Amino acid sequence: MTTLATCRRCERLTDFRSDILARYPDYQKTPIGAWGAAASRMILVGLAPGLHGAARTGKAFVGDASGQFLFESLYECGLATSPDPEIARLVNLRITNAVKCLPPGNLPTTGEVSACREHLRADLFGMNGQRMRRNRVIICLGTLAHRAVYRCLEQPVQPFSHGASYAVRPHLHVLSCYHPSRLNVNTGRLTKRMLLDVLRRGIELAG
Ligand code: SF4
Repeated sequence: MTTLATCRRCERLTDFRSDILARYPDYQKTPIGAWGAAASRMILVGLAPGLHGAARTGKAFVGDASGQFLFESLYECGLATSPDPEIARLVNLRITNAVKCLPPGNLPTTGEVSACREHLRADLFGMNGQRMRRNRVIICLGTLAHRAVYRCLEQPVQPFSHGASYAVRPHLHVLSCYHPSRLNVNTGRLTKRMLLDVLRRGIELAG
């Protein structure tokens, strides 16, 4: 298995990171993995690092507008110690992305999503071991993460529906949510109430 820190499997994304580093030398020089305690019972899976978010800070959903929106709700549900992602600690929660390198236009190719499956699997199975006795919940933010998670779990991909949850195996639930992108939030497709409802459902499923 290729380690995440040294992975250069996607040439397009590796080249893109070099271009970004030429413009922003302080940004992250390696792919960006999960953060939060590995023993957490919930994990949020987004799409990919944002240019001025995770690609800058090294933490998924820290540093951009999506993260700001998300953390207000995480704090309200008790899943983060602050509504400010820059200083928050996660509580019984991990956060990661389906694709660990920044893609141009926020759009990884199908091949790049498949190439990164091995790293997403490590995030999910780090938390969701086969012998687990307590419930675990994976919350997919957006359709790309939704599909990537089902493929990682080697399960048939269920139709995406905001708020829908599936028990994919004993003690393991997958819950889907619209991505808290600026577009979804500005158009009202995802409201704070809708996000809070999904997070609270996740907490309930985690038991
Ligand atoms: S996107 Fe994933 S598989 Fe591709 S280079 Fe980055 S870490 Fe490796």
